[in-house]
Amino acid sequence: MKKIEVFIEWCLYCVTIKASEEIASTPHHFKVIAMEIITIPCLYDNYSYLVFGAGRVDAAVVDPSEAWPVMRELERQQVPLAAVLCTHHHHDHIGGIDDLLDAYPRLRIIGFKEDGGRIPQLTEFLDDGDSFEVGAISGKMFHTPGHTSASVVFHIGNKLFVGDTLFGAGCGRLFEGTAEQMVASLARIVSCGRGTELYFGHEYTALNLRFAAEVDATNGTVRQRAMMVEEMRVGDTPSAPSSIELELETNPFLRATEPAIIAYLEKHAGLKSHDPVAVFAALRELRNHFE
Ligand code: ZN
Ligand code: FE
Repeated sequence: MKKIEVFIEWCLYCVTIKASEEIASTPHHFKVIAMEIITIPCLYDNYSYLVFGAGRVDAAVVDPSEAWPVMRELERQQVPLAAVLCTHHHHDHIGGIDDLLDAYPRLRIIGFKEDGGRIPQLTEFLDDGDSFEVGAISGKMFHTPGHTSASVVFHIGNKLFVGDTLFGAGCGRLFEGTAEQMVASLARIVSCGRGTELYFGHEYTALNLRFAAEVDATNGTVRQRAMMVEEMRVGDTPSAPSSIELELETNPFLRATEPAIIAYLEKHAGLKSHDPVAVFAALRELRNHFE
């Protein structure tokens, strides 16, 4: 459940030297940024994520469903919590904030300004595209409506914390947003690049892949991933993180315009139009009733 990654960020001087092919680098010209993420299973099938910045001095938690599993991990790691990042207002994503505030009274609660009324604990109100910093952790927040009207994702390094907007092989239900908004939000997530790692809010991947195998029956990668995830889940290993690359190959909601999926929807959901939003809406509707 532990993931350690090291990024090397070149300073402008090194990049200039590299470009002129003179000297590769000398050690003091780059800094190593270590970022670590710990996945914390919460409630029945939620995930909260602890993010540690360089040197493990700073920690932030994404979507604390409940406080105690987060606090237990912080104690184990001996790092104090500095901030909470909120992807949306649903209780299974913010339920632990009050207890965390009792333990860490100076905690920063960071979220989208439009959710200020629904996440009363917010102390920092970001706008779409705003940057944020928690010590050595720095990233950007993007508005991705669809699941709720004020859902957001947090982009930190090459990692994207997507809440309930995108799941492994699936996407969130449209509680407040429209199909059109969700299609645009998913496209925005995809635009972060194929190598981006995706940390989602629920462990729904196995069921989502059973749905994917039904609507995208000729897709061999879906079958492979389904076998892998079944195995992981037997051992209680989270299927997060995923990657945009893997989702592009196996997530029917990112593949809604594939001929095989359109043909399935024409046959089983009476789809008439090939408009991407109509196809997505038909697929989402079908998934709502899939068990
Ligand atoms: Zn939700
Ligand atoms: Fe949720």
